[in-house]
Amino acid sequence: MLKIAVPKESDLGELRVALVPDTVARFIKLGFEVLVQSGAGLGAHFDDSEYEAAGATIINGAKELWESADILLKVAPPGEQQGEEEMNWLKPGATLISFLNPLANPEQVQALAQRKINSFSMEMIPRTSRAQSMDALSSQANIAGYKSALLAAASLSRLFPMMTTAAGTIPPAKVLVIGAGVAGLQAIATARRLGAVVEAFDVRPAVKEEVQSVGAKFIEIPIEEDTATSQGYAKEVGQNTQEKIRQVLTEHIKKSDVVITTAQVQGKRAPLIVTEEMVCEMSSGAVIVDLAAGQGGNCACTEAGKDVYYNGVTIIGPLNLPSTLPVDSSKVYAKNLLTLVKYLVKDGAIDFNFEDDIVEATCVTYEGEIRNDRIKQALANLVQA
Ligand code: NAD
Repeated sequence: MLKIAVPKESDLGELRVALVPDTVARFIKLGFEVLVQSGAGLGAHFDDSEYEAAGATIINGAKELWESADILLKVAPPGEQQGEEEMNWLKPGATLISFLNPLANPEQVQALAQRKINSFSMEMIPRTSRAQSMDALSSQANIAGYKSALLAAASLSRLFPMMTTAAGTIPPAKVLVIGAGVAGLQAIATARRLGAVVEAFDVRPAVKEEVQSVGAKFIEIPIEEDTATSQGYAKEVGQNTQEKIRQVLTEHIKKSDVVITTAQVQGKRAPLIVTEEMVCEMSSGAVIVDLAAGQGGNCACTEAGKDVYYNGVTIIGPLNLPSTLPVDSSKVYAKNLLTLVKYLVKDGAIDFNFEDDIVEATCVTYEGEIRNDRIKQALANLVQA
């Protein structure tokens, strides 16, 4: 019987857990044995007794849990504990399924390969309809987008909705969302629900209709170059195009009470869209929430993980918003993992069928080798630097 192990996340501030009791019960029903480290679910308000009731075995020590795993399911990439690398506790031939941030951290992928750990990176799930229910980037970005609008509303020095009262009429807040992928669209929808007037821009013109369908006005900027990859991701645009985008957005940013930025380009530093000058032109009391803070930031004044006050404007640079709503973010992440593991396991073992597009895209180390060319390239770039 394959043993699935769920550790307590060791990253400070990571409150999510890879499996919730409901998904543990589903795994048990499918014939897996599930081991959960004592306290693994506490950050997300699931206690050991709920996991036990779902059929899991509770393991006290972190090391003991990692050593027992055939498949270890995790949220954040492996870290360090008790002065040791967690991943070194996995037995060779075990499988790790987690967010691994492999393009930014190829050295860890190399170390996994050297340890003969087979690993799947949740960031690499293809963005296709077939893989939609395994798509953890989307499930977590959706939550981050929602929370970004709430953070903005809570930090803004004025109201989001229009209010007509005996004491006068208050106009609605103006929100601008830059980057209308999964997080951006949810930020728009949430800001609209709170009563703000919302406009949005994305470098991929194809999202115009989606933006309009969630109630925002799309800012059109004619762009001559091709801005999307064949997988639907944004490409890095050239300096001239980026400058043109900045010029058009300057006027929109100036009159916005809130700017929520979510623009990212896979494997690259996030594009710099909001300059220091633009921040200075915003009204005192305005707010920027920069969801790209962890990738270098879309705003020049962003400091990752901090709130910055600059010329009367609050710039919030959150690093892990899904972890601030750990109950629901863990539930949807656990569902993503359940679907993926069910898909991968055939006849009691993982079927490393590299003819399959999901396995091919997601498996980053197998039998001592790094399998992904972009990760190999990222590693080569590091060695050269
Ligand atoms: P992301 O987090 O990589 O980027 C966020 C947004 O920033 C994207 O919409 C991108 O176009 C935009 N962006 C990048 N550079 C920009 C710039 N210079 N100026 C303005 N905006 C910029 O995106 P994501 O949310 O992960 O979505 C990526 C793609 O995957 C999208 O096409 C999305 O529709 C698609 N997707 C498909 C599925 C599916 O079919 N199952 C699921 C989820 C996402």
